Amino acid sequence: MNSITDILDLEDSDIHVSNIQVEGTQKLITLEYKLTSHFCPSCGFRMHSRGIKTRSIRHPILQDGYELILLLRQRRWRCTNPDCRYETNDSFRFVDRSRRTTNASDMLIIFAFRNLNESAASIARRFNTSDTHALDVFDRYVKMDRLPLSDIISIDEVFTDMDRDCKYALVIQDFYTGDPIDLLRSRRSRVTEPYFAAIPPEERNKVKYLLSDMYNPYLSFVDKYFPNAVSVVDSFHVVQWIIHSIDMYIRQLEKNFRKRDREREEKISAEQGRSVSLPVSDELYICSENTAGSSCQTAITSSTIRIFAWIRTFIVL
Ligand SMILES: [Zn+2]
Repeated sequence: MNSITDILDLEDSDIHVSNIQVEGTQKLITLEYKLTSHFCPSCGFRMHSRGIKTRSIRHPILQDGYELILLLRQRRWRCTNPDCRYETNDSFRFVDRSRRTTNASDMLIIFAFRNLNESAASIARRFNTSDTHALDVFDRYVKMDRLPLSDIISIDEVFTDMDRDCKYALVIQDFYTGDPIDLLRSRRSRVTEPYFAAIPPEERNKVKYLLSDMYNPYLSFVDKYFPNAVSVVDSFHVVQWIIHSIDMYIRQLEKNFRKRDREREEKISAEQGRSVSLPVSDELYICSENTAGSSCQTAITSSTIRIFAWIRTFIVL
């Protein structure tokens, strides 16, 4: 435990550990510089020590489950030259002057974001910080420049847990390469509006086609931001919509025929004064493909899919 570099993977060999204390789940490690002669960076005179101030800094939880608190003993120095009187404090490279956590915490937070199952909130809990801070750290270090827009772009959403009031992030893709042009943390207009408006008009004007699903705000992007583009709903969503409509139609037909057949049965039974059971009508047979119970819907869906598999081949983007 002599080398702070070994413990924290931090670079500063002049620092030594002067005390280690364990209090519950906290490990308190006192760090200070070895006492050496100091010379004024301004005039070169010797500096003298004017006392020590202890600063408490948090470091993310150690592997053994302990929370690490670093107690930094910082010496204040003043130049002995009466005409200079330059003052300075010991500074530790692994922590900024105004921060209460080590710089290594930031790197560990960013590393945690690599796990797609983690949310800002869960990372924040683990590092004893707020989710706003965790997101700020990410934004501070991770710079992901937007790719230029191509003349065909596609827009879709992906489920994330990045934004409190919107669980869907917006993905903008280059249609030709499939590369993500950018990822917006929310598909809400308060995020998308300033974003698209900030893209230079010359670049937006080059977009000719905007592919999306049938979500209305996406369709309206063309009118709002891409004056030379045509909105295109991709074939997958069109086919999905057609299949759904046909399914609904067939189910309604089936219901009508069932009702008609039941009424016919009741009428004949009343006329003959006994309970008459008619065979399944041709119409009902076709609608339900003569399948009983739960497999009925599956049969309808699979037949409509077969029908529309070939329709799809005629839909050209
Ligand atoms: Zn000086």
